[in-house]
Amino acid sequence: MKHDFQDKIAVVTGAGSGIGAAVSRQLAQEGAEVVVADLDAEAAHSKAAEIRSQGGRAHDFAVDVTDAAAVEKLVEFAVQKCGGLDMAVNNAGIDGVRKATADYPLDNWHKLINVNLNGIFYCMKYEIAAMLDRGGGAIVNMSSVLGSVGLPTASAYTAAKHGVVGLTKVAAMEYARMGIRINVVGPGWIETPLVSEQMEAAAIRRIAGLQPMGRRGRPEEVAALVCFLLSDQASFITGSYHLVDGAYTAH
Ligand code: NAP
Repeated sequence: MKHDFQDKIAVVTGAGSGIGAAVSRQLAQEGAEVVVADLDAEAAHSKAAEIRSQGGRAHDFAVDVTDAAAVEKLVEFAVQKCGGLDMAVNNAGIDGVRKATADYPLDNWHKLINVNLNGIFYCMKYEIAAMLDRGGGAIVNMSSVLGSVGLPTASAYTAAKHGVVGLTKVAAMEYARMGIRINVVGPGWIETPLVSEQMEAAAIRRIAGLQPMGRRGRPEEVAALVCFLLSDQASFITGSYHLVDGAYTAH
């Protein structure tokens, strides 16, 4: 076991698929009791069942992170059902349409900012309160390489992911002396349904080539970083942005 998450309780959003599912699996393998939360109730249910079938501890919870009251209930569930909240991974996110800024549809802009930025704020708002009651905790927010560089036609996604980096830094400074560490992770292109579901093989090969390593990352490679940041091994790391991008942003 790389980290000791025994007796720790974690909430992971967007945990029904991709990176969130991989994080939930690793946390559970390393001893944590995990609340697997997703908009897709069926996906959350099956991922939690999969963890339990492998001997881990997991509960599923259906949540829309754009609904602040629903997010509050998610945190209440962790506190009441599991006894508190030690770790949170605010990972739920969506991709947007690809349009230049002047052509970007307003409804798409609002939807994306709502999920990818407001959702992270709602999660932190209630998670931090629960962690203060427990005397500390650790949070990882999911940004992207587009938290530090831009991608033409992706204004809403890039703005939201830059926003998550800023939000993380502010909250980390606010709670640094209260035992809560808050970091943000920036993955490059990763093999998940978010970027592969509707793509042809040639487009996927092109995306793989954007990383100097010549391939996309795997969800488990992001999960490994997230779990390190949540662990006591990262005890002096807070308020920082950590890339896992095969050198995408190095050039
Ligand atoms: P994914 O496989 O599509 O998983 C995202 C999960 O979040 C899905 O189960 C999705 O449910 C759920 N979700 C969407 N909207 C939600 C909401 N309002 N409330 C709660 N859950 C919601 O995506 P992924 O690639 O693992 O991405 C996870 C995170 O990593 C995202 O924040 C993404 O921006 C970020 N990221 C991904 C990549 C990449 O290349 N994959 C790169 C950089 C950053 P539905 O399926 O029902 O929509």
